[in-house]
Amino acid sequence: METKKGKIIVICAPSGSGKSTIINNILDAGDIDMQFSISATNRAPRPGEQHGVHYYFMSTDEFREAISRDEFIEWEQVYPGRYYGTLRSQVIKAADEGHNVILDIDVKGALSVKDIFGDQALTIFIKAPSLDDLRERLIARGTDKPEVIAQRLAKAEYELDFARKMDAVVVNADIDRAVAETRSLITDFIARD
Ligand code: 5GP
Repeated sequence: METKKGKIIVICAPSGSGKSTIINNILDAGDIDMQFSISATNRAPRPGEQHGVHYYFMSTDEFREAISRDEFIEWEQVYPGRYYGTLRSQVIKAADEGHNVILDIDVKGALSVKDIFGDQALTIFIKAPSLDDLRERLIARGTDKPEVIAQRLAKAEYELDFARKMDAVVVNADIDRAVAETRSLITDFIARD
């Protein structure tokens, strides 16, 4: 009998929308068979981030080489000079073996993955209640300099436009409710044929 392929769950959101908290919460609960797809990037690790756990951190040259070896399902220049890509090795084998895979990628990447995987993929957009709210969260997080926060907010405004192209949108006004809502979207989708 042929193994049923795993599903591809794509979570995208402007940074500061609570996306990582939602993903970690769902993965840590451990009741859904799901693997996190570790992306590659040429950006520097933030404090506490580990190579091979949060990202595969690469130099720009290494990233370019990976592109030329066709190692990515999709890749994007998410911020000027900053590249991020979904590695084939993180997604295809796991899905073919029947495991579900969850991706945390930007809006353009999400649409590319949807194009490739079609009904096997579910795209979920996590939205902060407002841009002001998002600004406050980014400041409170304290990981980015003011110019980086400004860059992320501009990007967020642009990304909000993409929300309507996703399969589902979750508004994160309350983190527990947002986790519950995202989780039920995922479990319903996984249960489908
Ligand atoms: P950060 O630098 O905050 O970790 O990520 C910045 C943005 O890049 C986030 O929106 C994140 O979802 C996105 N991103 C991370 N990995 C990938 C990837 O493999 N492909 C694409 N297209 N975007 C990614």
